[in-house]
Amino acid sequence: MALKALDVYKLLPKKNCKECGDPTCLTFAMKLASGKADVDLCPYLDEEAKSVLGATTRPPIRLVKVGVGERSFAVGEEFVLYRHDKTFYHPPGILFKVSDTWEPEAITSATVRVRDEFFTRIGTDLRFDGIAIENTSGSPDTFARAVSIVEKSADLPLVLMASNIAALNAALIQVGSYQPLIHAATNENFREMCALAKKHSCPLVVKAHGLDDLTALVKNCLLEGVQKLVMDLCPQSPGDFITTSTAVRQLAITRAVPDLGYPVFIDATHPYLQDAKIALGIVKYASVIITPPLSPASAKAALTLRQNIYTDPQKPIQMNPGLYRIGTPGKDAPVLLTVNFSLTFFTLQGYLESTRIPCFMLIVDTEGLSVLTAVAAGKLNETLVRDSIKKFEVENEVSHKTLIIPGYSAPLSGRIEEATGWKVMVGPRDAAEIGEFLHEEWKKTKD
Ligand code: SF4
Repeated sequence: MALKALDVYKLLPKKNCKECGDPTCLTFAMKLASGKADVDLCPYLDEEAKSVLGATTRPPIRLVKVGVGERSFAVGEEFVLYRHDKTFYHPPGILFKVSDTWEPEAITSATVRVRDEFFTRIGTDLRFDGIAIENTSGSPDTFARAVSIVEKSADLPLVLMASNIAALNAALIQVGSYQPLIHAATNENFREMCALAKKHSCPLVVKAHGLDDLTALVKNCLLEGVQKLVMDLCPQSPGDFITTSTAVRQLAITRAVPDLGYPVFIDATHPYLQDAKIALGIVKYASVIITPPLSPASAKAALTLRQNIYTDPQKPIQMNPGLYRIGTPGKDAPVLLTVNFSLTFFTLQGYLESTRIPCFMLIVDTEGLSVLTAVAAGKLNETLVRDSIKKFEVENEVSHKTLIIPGYSAPLSGRIEEATGWKVMVGPRDAAEIGEFLHEEWKKTKD
Protein backbone atom coordinates (compact mmCIF):
# COMPACT_ATOMS: atom_id res chain seq x y z
CA MET A 1 0.00 0.00 0.00
CA ALA A 2 1.54 3.33 -1.04
CA LEU A 3 2.21 6.02 1.56
CA LYS A 4 0.96 9.59 1.18
CA ALA A 5 3.52 12.41 0.88
CA LEU A 6 2.82 13.63 4.42
CA ASP A 7 3.37 10.15 5.90
CA VAL A 8 6.63 9.90 3.98
CA TYR A 9 7.67 13.35 5.18
CA LYS A 10 7.15 12.32 8.81
CA LEU A 11 9.76 9.57 8.37
CA LEU A 12 12.42 11.85 6.83
CA PRO A 13 15.24 13.39 8.89
CA LYS A 14 14.15 16.92 7.90
CA LYS A 15 17.60 18.46 7.61
CA ASN A 16 16.71 20.27 4.37
CA CYS A 17 20.32 19.76 3.35
CA LYS A 18 19.55 19.23 -0.40
CA GLU A 19 21.92 16.25 -0.62
CA CYS A 20 19.14 14.21 -2.22
CA GLY A 21 19.03 16.72 -5.07
CA ASP A 22 15.75 18.26 -3.92
CA PRO A 23 15.53 21.71 -2.36
CA THR A 24 13.63 20.54 0.73
CA CYS A 25 12.70 17.34 2.52
CA LEU A 26 9.08 18.00 1.59
CA THR A 27 9.74 18.04 -2.15
CA PHE A 28 11.76 14.85 -1.76
CA ALA A 29 8.84 13.32 0.20
CA MET A 30 6.45 14.22 -2.63
CA LYS A 31 8.73 12.60 -5.18
CA LEU A 32 9.15 9.51 -3.03
CA ALA A 33 5.41 9.18 -2.56
CA SER A 34 4.84 9.31 -6.31
CA GLY A 35 7.57 6.74 -6.93
CA LYS A 36 9.81 9.26 -8.72
CA ALA A 37 12.78 9.07 -6.33
CA ASP A 38 14.74 6.42 -4.50
CA VAL A 39 15.15 6.34 -0.73
CA ASP A 40 18.88 5.73 -1.15
CA LEU A 41 19.29 9.36 -2.26
CA CYS A 42 18.90 10.56 1.33
CA PRO A 43 22.06 9.56 3.22
CA TYR A 44 20.55 10.34 6.65
CA LEU A 45 17.77 7.76 6.70
CA ASP A 46 18.31 4.91 9.17
CA GLU A 47 17.90 1.33 7.96
CA GLU A 48 14.45 0.90 9.49
CA ALA A 49 13.02 4.01 7.83
CA LYS A 50 14.70 2.97 4.57
CA SER A 51 13.07 -0.42 4.59
CA VAL A 52 9.61 1.01 5.40
CA LEU A 53 9.92 3.73 2.77
CA GLY A 54 11.72 1.58 0.21
CA ALA A 55 9.03 -1.07 0.19
CA THR A 56 6.24 1.45 -0.41
CA THR A 57 7.72 4.36 -2.31
CA ARG A 58 10.42 3.20 -4.68
CA PRO A 59 9.35 2.65 -8.28
CA PRO A 60 7.77 -0.80 -8.51
CA ILE A 61 10.37 -1.75 -11.12
CA ARG A 62 13.89 -0.62 -10.28
CA LEU A 63 15.89 1.49 -12.71
CA VAL A 64 19.01 -0.29 -13.96
CA LYS A 65 21.67 1.43 -16.06
CA VAL A 66 23.82 -0.51 -18.51
CA GLY A 67 27.17 0.91 -19.56
CA VAL A 68 28.66 4.34 -19.07
CA GLY A 69 28.98 7.37 -21.33
CA GLU A 70 26.92 8.71 -24.18
CA ARG A 71 25.46 5.43 -25.42
CA SER A 72 24.63 4.00 -21.97
CA PHE A 73 20.96 3.23 -21.44
CA ALA A 74 18.67 2.84 -18.45
CA VAL A 75 15.77 0.40 -18.22
CA GLY A 76 13.02 -0.33 -15.71
CA GLU A 77 11.22 2.30 -13.65
CA GLU A 78 7.90 1.47 -15.27
CA PHE A 79 4.59 2.03 -13.54
CA VAL A 80 1.82 0.52 -15.63
CA LEU A 81 0.78 -2.74 -17.18
CA TYR A 82 -0.96 -1.19 -20.14
CA ARG A 83 0.63 1.56 -22.17
CA HIS A 84 -2.67 3.44 -22.51
CA ASP A 85 -2.95 3.70 -18.67
CA LYS A 86 -0.12 6.25 -18.75
CA THR A 87 2.96 5.51 -20.84
CA PHE A 88 6.02 3.27 -20.90
CA TYR A 89 9.11 5.26 -19.98
CA HIS A 90 12.31 3.36 -20.74
CA PRO A 91 12.56 1.62 -24.12
CA PRO A 92 14.34 -1.73 -24.09
CA GLY A 93 17.99 -1.83 -25.04
CA ILE A 94 18.39 -4.01 -28.14
CA LEU A 95 21.87 -5.52 -28.49
CA PHE A 96 23.48 -7.62 -31.22
CA LYS A 97 25.04 -10.84 -29.97
CA VAL A 98 28.45 -12.03 -31.17
CA SER A 99 30.25 -15.20 -30.18
CA ASP A 100 33.85 -15.35 -29.05
CA THR A 101 34.36 -18.13 -31.61
CA TRP A 102 33.64 -15.76 -34.52
CA GLU A 103 36.41 -14.43 -36.72
CA PRO A 104 37.65 -11.03 -35.52
CA GLU A 105 36.34 -9.40 -38.73
CA ALA A 106 32.81 -10.65 -38.06
CA ILE A 107 32.90 -9.37 -34.46
CA THR A 108 34.19 -6.00 -35.65
CA SER A 109 31.61 -5.78 -38.40
CA ALA A 110 28.67 -6.37 -36.00
CA THR A 111 30.13 -3.86 -33.55
CA VAL A 112 30.65 -1.20 -36.20
CA ARG A 113 27.07 -1.67 -37.38
CA VAL A 114 25.74 -0.93 -33.89
CA ARG A 115 28.16 1.98 -33.56
CA ASP A 116 27.29 3.64 -36.86
CA GLU A 117 23.95 2.50 -38.20
CA PHE A 118 20.80 4.49 -37.60
CA PHE A 119 17.70 5.44 -39.43
CA THR A 120 15.60 8.53 -38.94
CA ARG A 121 11.89 8.17 -38.35
CA ILE A 122 9.51 10.93 -37.25
CA GLY A 123 12.49 13.19 -36.66
CA THR A 124 14.28 10.78 -34.33
CA ASP A 125 17.46 8.80 -35.00
CA LEU A 126 16.80 5.15 -34.15
CA ARG A 127 19.75 2.87 -33.29
CA PHE A 128 20.66 -0.36 -31.62
CA ASP A 129 22.18 -0.10 -28.20
CA GLY A 130 25.14 -2.34 -27.70
CA ILE A 131 26.88 -5.68 -28.09
CA ALA A 132 26.40 -8.93 -26.17
CA ILE A 133 29.48 -11.16 -26.26
CA GLU A 134 28.94 -14.86 -25.59
CA ASN A 135 31.63 -17.14 -24.24
CA THR A 136 30.75 -20.00 -26.59
CA SER A 137 34.33 -21.27 -26.52
CA GLY A 138 34.40 -21.71 -22.75
CA SER A 139 37.93 -20.30 -22.80
CA PRO A 140 38.78 -17.22 -20.70
CA ASP A 141 41.48 -16.12 -23.15
CA THR A 142 39.25 -16.41 -26.20
CA PHE A 143 36.47 -14.54 -24.41
CA ALA A 144 38.80 -11.77 -23.27
CA ARG A 145 40.13 -11.45 -26.84
CA ALA A 146 36.62 -11.11 -28.29
CA VAL A 147 35.72 -8.51 -25.67
CA SER A 148 38.84 -6.51 -26.51
CA ILE A 149 37.97 -6.60 -30.24
CA VAL A 150 34.55 -5.10 -29.46
CA GLU A 151 36.00 -2.58 -27.07
CA LYS A 152 38.60 -1.39 -29.60
CA SER A 153 35.92 -0.80 -32.24
CA ALA A 154 33.35 1.12 -30.22
CA ASP A 155 32.39 2.65 -26.93
CA LEU A 156 29.11 0.77 -26.46
CA PRO A 157 27.17 -0.81 -23.60
CA LEU A 158 28.04 -4.50 -23.33
CA VAL A 159 26.49 -7.69 -22.05
CA LEU A 160 29.01 -10.35 -21.03
CA MET A 161 27.38 -13.78 -21.38
CA ALA A 162 29.31 -16.59 -19.70
CA SER A 163 28.84 -19.25 -17.10
CA ASN A 164 32.58 -19.64 -16.63
CA ILE A 165 33.62 -17.38 -13.76
CA ALA A 166 37.26 -17.31 -14.92
CA ALA A 167 36.14 -16.13 -18.37
CA LEU A 168 33.99 -13.36 -16.89
CA ASN A 169 36.82 -12.35 -14.62
CA ALA A 170 39.21 -12.09 -17.58
CA ALA A 171 36.70 -9.97 -19.54
CA LEU A 172 35.88 -7.73 -16.60
CA ILE A 173 39.55 -6.94 -16.02
CA GLN A 174 39.38 -5.21 -19.41
CA VAL A 175 35.93 -3.66 -19.44
CA GLY A 176 34.67 -3.76 -15.83
CA SER A 177 34.90 0.01 -15.47
CA TYR A 178 32.37 0.37 -18.33
CA GLN A 179 29.79 -1.40 -16.18
CA PRO A 180 28.65 -4.09 -18.61
CA LEU A 181 25.64 -6.22 -17.78
CA ILE A 182 26.80 -9.64 -16.54
CA HIS A 183 24.77 -12.65 -17.66
CA ALA A 184 23.95 -14.64 -15.59
CA ALA A 185 23.70 -15.63 -11.94
CA THR A 186 22.03 -18.98 -11.29
CA ASN A 187 21.29 -20.97 -8.16
CA GLU A 188 24.63 -22.71 -8.58
CA ASN A 189 26.94 -19.73 -9.10
CA PHE A 190 25.22 -16.65 -7.65
CA ARG A 191 27.79 -16.03 -4.90
CA GLU A 192 30.71 -15.84 -7.35
CA MET A 193 28.64 -13.81 -9.84
CA CYS A 194 27.58 -11.37 -7.12
CA ALA A 195 31.18 -10.98 -6.00
CA LEU A 196 32.18 -10.03 -9.57
CA ALA A 197 29.22 -7.66 -9.98
CA LYS A 198 30.04 -5.94 -6.68
CA LYS A 199 33.73 -5.67 -7.45
CA HIS A 200 33.08 -3.86 -10.75
CA SER A 201 29.77 -2.13 -9.81
CA CYS A 202 28.08 -3.95 -12.71
CA PRO A 203 24.42 -4.81 -13.13
CA LEU A 204 23.74 -8.54 -12.99
CA VAL A 205 21.22 -10.79 -14.74
CA VAL A 206 19.64 -13.49 -12.57
CA LYS A 207 18.44 -16.53 -14.45
CA ALA A 208 15.80 -19.02 -13.31
CA HIS A 209 12.68 -20.68 -14.66
CA GLY A 210 9.53 -20.29 -12.58
CA LEU A 211 8.55 -17.36 -10.43
CA ASP A 212 9.35 -19.02 -7.09
CA ASP A 213 12.89 -19.90 -8.12
CA LEU A 214 13.36 -16.45 -9.64
CA THR A 215 12.16 -14.69 -6.49
CA ALA A 216 14.41 -16.82 -4.29
CA LEU A 217 17.41 -16.07 -6.50
CA VAL A 218 16.69 -12.32 -6.49
CA LYS A 219 16.52 -12.43 -2.68
CA ASN A 220 19.83 -14.28 -2.50
CA CYS A 221 21.54 -11.74 -4.76
CA LEU A 222 20.13 -8.86 -2.71
CA LEU A 223 21.50 -10.50 0.43
CA GLU A 224 24.87 -10.70 -1.31
CA GLY A 225 24.66 -6.92 -1.73
CA VAL A 226 23.83 -6.63 -5.46
CA GLN A 227 20.92 -4.25 -6.10
CA LYS A 228 21.18 -3.67 -9.85
CA LEU A 229 19.43 -6.77 -11.12
CA VAL A 230 17.83 -7.83 -14.39
CA MET A 231 15.80 -11.06 -14.70
CA ASP A 232 16.13 -13.74 -17.38
CA LEU A 233 12.89 -15.71 -17.17
CA CYS A 234 14.31 -18.63 -19.23
CA PRO A 235 11.14 -18.92 -21.34
CA GLN A 236 10.57 -22.33 -22.95
CA SER A 237 8.60 -20.80 -25.85
CA PRO A 238 7.27 -17.43 -27.02
CA GLY A 239 3.95 -18.26 -25.32
CA ASP A 240 5.75 -19.03 -22.06
CA PHE A 241 7.53 -15.68 -22.32
CA ILE A 242 4.24 -13.77 -22.66
CA THR A 243 2.68 -15.59 -19.71
CA THR A 244 5.66 -15.26 -17.39
CA SER A 245 6.63 -11.73 -18.35
CA THR A 246 3.05 -10.50 -17.93
CA ALA A 247 2.78 -12.20 -14.53
CA VAL A 248 6.09 -10.65 -13.46
CA ARG A 249 4.98 -7.17 -14.53
CA GLN A 250 1.62 -7.55 -12.80
CA LEU A 251 3.14 -8.78 -9.53
CA ALA A 252 5.77 -6.03 -9.62
CA ILE A 253 3.44 -3.14 -10.51
CA THR A 254 0.95 -4.06 -7.79
CA ARG A 255 3.88 -4.60 -5.37
CA ALA A 256 2.40 -8.01 -4.59
CA VAL A 257 5.91 -9.49 -4.99
CA PRO A 258 8.37 -6.57 -4.73
CA ASP A 259 11.31 -8.91 -5.34
CA LEU A 260 10.11 -9.31 -8.93
CA GLY A 261 10.40 -5.54 -9.48
CA TYR A 262 13.38 -5.66 -11.83
CA PRO A 263 13.73 -5.27 -15.62
CA VAL A 264 13.35 -8.38 -17.78
CA PHE A 265 15.93 -9.86 -20.17
CA ILE A 266 15.20 -11.92 -23.29
CA ASP A 267 17.60 -13.68 -25.62
CA ALA A 268 15.92 -13.70 -29.05
CA THR A 269 18.84 -15.13 -30.99
CA HIS A 270 17.41 -18.60 -31.56
CA PRO A 271 16.45 -18.67 -35.27
CA TYR A 272 12.98 -20.13 -34.64
CA LEU A 273 10.40 -17.28 -34.72
CA GLN A 274 13.16 -14.74 -34.22
CA ASP A 275 11.32 -11.61 -35.39
CA ALA A 276 8.24 -12.65 -33.42
CA LYS A 277 10.33 -13.02 -30.26
CA ILE A 278 11.87 -9.59 -30.71
CA ALA A 279 8.40 -8.10 -31.21
CA LEU A 280 7.06 -9.93 -28.15
CA GLY A 281 9.98 -8.70 -26.10
CA ILE A 282 9.27 -5.11 -27.12
CA VAL A 283 5.53 -5.20 -26.47
CA LYS A 284 5.53 -7.54 -23.48
CA TYR A 285 7.86 -5.86 -21.06
CA ALA A 286 11.38 -6.97 -21.93
CA SER A 287 13.97 -4.32 -21.09
CA VAL A 288 17.09 -5.93 -22.53
CA ILE A 289 16.69 -7.80 -25.82
CA ILE A 290 19.52 -9.79 -27.37
CA THR A 291 19.33 -10.43 -31.13
CA PRO A 292 21.74 -11.61 -33.79
CA PRO A 293 22.96 -8.88 -36.18
CA LEU A 294 19.65 -8.28 -37.94
CA SER A 295 18.87 -7.97 -41.63
CA PRO A 296 17.98 -4.40 -42.69
CA ALA A 297 14.26 -5.29 -42.83
CA SER A 298 14.18 -6.88 -39.37
CA ALA A 299 16.30 -4.06 -37.95
CA LYS A 300 13.91 -1.40 -39.20
CA ALA A 301 10.87 -3.34 -38.01
CA ALA A 302 12.32 -3.77 -34.49
CA LEU A 303 13.39 -0.14 -34.13
CA THR A 304 10.09 1.15 -35.52
CA LEU A 305 8.02 -1.03 -33.21
CA ARG A 306 10.09 0.06 -30.20
CA GLN A 307 9.63 3.70 -31.12
CA ASN A 308 5.87 3.25 -31.49
CA ILE A 309 5.39 1.40 -28.21
CA TYR A 310 7.55 3.82 -26.23
CA THR A 311 5.94 6.99 -27.54
CA ASP A 312 3.73 8.66 -24.94
CA PRO A 313 0.16 7.99 -26.18
CA GLN A 314 -1.03 11.12 -24.37
CA LYS A 315 1.34 13.43 -26.22
CA PRO A 316 1.21 13.52 -30.01
CA ILE A 317 4.69 13.92 -31.43
CA GLN A 318 4.92 17.48 -32.63
CA MET A 319 7.01 19.50 -35.04
CA ASN A 320 7.98 23.08 -34.34
CA PRO A 321 5.64 25.35 -36.31
CA GLY A 322 7.41 27.36 -38.99
CA LEU A 323 8.16 27.70 -42.69
CA TYR A 324 10.11 24.68 -43.96
CA ARG A 325 11.83 24.42 -47.31
CA ILE A 326 11.78 21.47 -49.68
CA GLY A 327 14.77 21.86 -51.99
CA THR A 328 15.64 25.46 -52.82
CA PRO A 329 12.30 27.15 -53.46
CA GLY A 330 12.20 30.42 -55.39
CA LYS A 331 9.74 33.30 -55.19
CA ASP A 332 7.19 31.47 -57.35
CA ALA A 333 7.32 28.19 -55.39
CA PRO A 334 4.10 26.72 -54.00
CA VAL A 335 3.29 27.14 -50.31
CA LEU A 336 1.57 24.15 -48.71
CA LEU A 337 -0.04 24.51 -45.34
CA THR A 338 -0.35 21.64 -42.91
CA VAL A 339 -0.50 20.84 -39.18
CA ASN A 340 2.37 20.15 -36.78
CA PHE A 341 1.46 16.50 -36.11
CA SER A 342 4.84 14.97 -36.90
CA LEU A 343 3.49 11.97 -38.78
CA THR A 344 1.57 14.30 -41.11
CA PHE A 345 4.66 16.47 -41.53
CA PHE A 346 7.05 13.65 -42.38
CA THR A 347 4.57 11.88 -44.65
CA LEU A 348 3.93 15.04 -46.65
CA GLN A 349 7.60 15.99 -46.63
CA GLY A 350 8.51 12.57 -48.09
CA TYR A 351 5.99 12.88 -50.91
CA LEU A 352 6.98 16.47 -51.65
CA GLU A 353 10.65 15.53 -51.87
CA SER A 354 9.83 12.85 -54.37
CA THR A 355 8.02 15.36 -56.63
CA ARG A 356 11.32 17.28 -57.04
CA ILE A 357 9.32 20.51 -57.09
CA PRO A 358 10.95 22.98 -54.68
CA CYS A 359 8.33 24.36 -52.31
CA PHE A 360 7.53 25.71 -48.86
CA MET A 361 5.69 23.86 -46.10
CA LEU A 362 3.89 26.20 -43.72
CA ILE A 363 3.50 24.26 -40.48
CA VAL A 364 0.94 25.70 -38.09
CA ASP A 365 0.57 24.91 -34.40
CA THR A 366 -2.40 22.59 -33.88
CA GLU A 367 -0.81 21.17 -30.71
CA GLY A 368 0.19 18.03 -32.55
CA LEU A 369 -3.31 17.18 -33.79
CA SER A 370 -3.79 15.69 -37.24
CA VAL A 371 -5.63 17.70 -39.92
CA LEU A 372 -9.01 16.03 -39.49
CA THR A 373 -8.91 16.21 -35.68
CA ALA A 374 -7.61 19.79 -35.69
CA VAL A 375 -10.43 20.93 -38.00
CA ALA A 376 -13.05 19.11 -35.89
CA ALA A 377 -11.61 20.54 -32.65
CA GLY A 378 -11.41 24.07 -34.06
CA LYS A 379 -7.62 24.13 -33.54
CA LEU A 380 -7.04 24.65 -37.24
CA ASN A 381 -8.86 27.84 -38.14
CA GLU A 382 -8.52 30.99 -40.23
CA THR A 383 -7.07 33.06 -37.37
CA LEU A 384 -4.26 30.56 -36.83
CA VAL A 385 -3.50 30.51 -40.56
CA ARG A 386 -3.52 34.33 -40.79
CA ASP A 387 -1.26 34.68 -37.74
CA SER A 388 1.12 31.97 -38.96
CA ILE A 389 1.52 33.60 -42.39
CA LYS A 390 2.43 36.82 -40.61
CA LYS A 391 4.62 35.27 -37.91
CA PHE A 392 6.71 33.23 -40.35
CA GLU A 393 6.88 36.10 -42.86
CA VAL A 394 5.65 33.99 -45.75
CA GLU A 395 4.94 37.11 -47.84
CA ASN A 396 8.67 37.92 -47.83
CA GLU A 397 9.51 34.52 -49.29
CA VAL A 398 7.14 34.33 -52.27
CA SER A 399 5.88 36.74 -54.90
CA HIS A 400 2.36 35.25 -55.06
CA LYS A 401 -0.48 34.88 -52.57
CA THR A 402 -1.74 31.37 -53.18
CA LEU A 403 -1.95 28.87 -50.35
CA ILE A 404 -2.50 25.13 -50.77
CA ILE A 405 -4.40 23.66 -47.84
CA PRO A 406 -4.98 19.96 -47.02
CA GLY A 407 -8.05 18.33 -48.56
CA TYR A 408 -9.55 17.59 -45.13
CA SER A 409 -9.54 21.31 -44.28
CA ALA A 410 -11.61 22.25 -47.37
CA PRO A 411 -14.52 23.63 -45.22
CA LEU A 412 -12.15 26.36 -44.02
CA SER A 413 -11.13 27.56 -47.47
CA GLY A 414 -13.56 30.50 -47.69
CA ARG A 415 -12.82 31.76 -44.20
CA ILE A 416 -9.07 31.49 -44.75
CA GLU A 417 -9.36 33.54 -47.96
CA GLU A 418 -11.33 36.22 -46.12
CA ALA A 419 -9.01 36.37 -43.12
CA THR A 420 -5.72 36.30 -45.01
CA GLY A 421 -6.44 37.84 -48.41
CA TRP A 422 -4.69 34.82 -49.95
CA LYS A 423 -6.22 32.68 -52.67
CA VAL A 424 -6.77 29.16 -51.34
CA MET A 425 -6.35 25.99 -53.37
CA VAL A 426 -7.68 22.83 -51.76
CA GLY A 427 -5.11 20.06 -52.08
CA PRO A 428 -5.71 16.31 -52.02
CA ARG A 429 -6.88 14.47 -48.92
CA ASP A 430 -4.21 11.84 -49.38
CA ALA A 431 -0.61 13.12 -49.26
CA ALA A 432 0.33 10.43 -51.77
CA GLU A 433 -1.54 12.44 -54.45
CA ILE A 434 0.34 15.69 -53.84
CA GLY A 435 2.80 15.07 -56.71
CA GLU A 436 0.02 14.72 -59.25
CA PHE A 437 -1.73 17.77 -57.76
CA LEU A 438 1.36 19.98 -58.06
CA HIS A 439 2.17 18.79 -61.56
CA GLU A 440 -1.38 19.38 -62.80
CA GLU A 441 -3.33 21.89 -60.65
CA TRP A 442 -0.44 24.06 -59.44
CA LYS A 443 1.07 24.27 -62.89
CA LYS A 444 -2.25 25.55 -64.30
CA THR A 445 -1.98 28.62 -62.03
CA LYS A 446 1.20 29.58 -63.85
CA ASP A 447 -0.06 29.11 -67.39
FE1 SF4 B 1 15.97 16.02 3.57
FE2 SF4 B 1 17.42 13.79 3.31
FE3 SF4 B 1 17.00 15.38 1.20
FE4 SF4 B 1 18.60 16.19 3.19
S1 SF4 B 1 18.95 14.46 1.81
S2 SF4 B 1 16.98 17.38 2.11
S3 SF4 B 1 17.58 15.29 4.93
S4 SF4 B 1 15.48 14.26 2.34
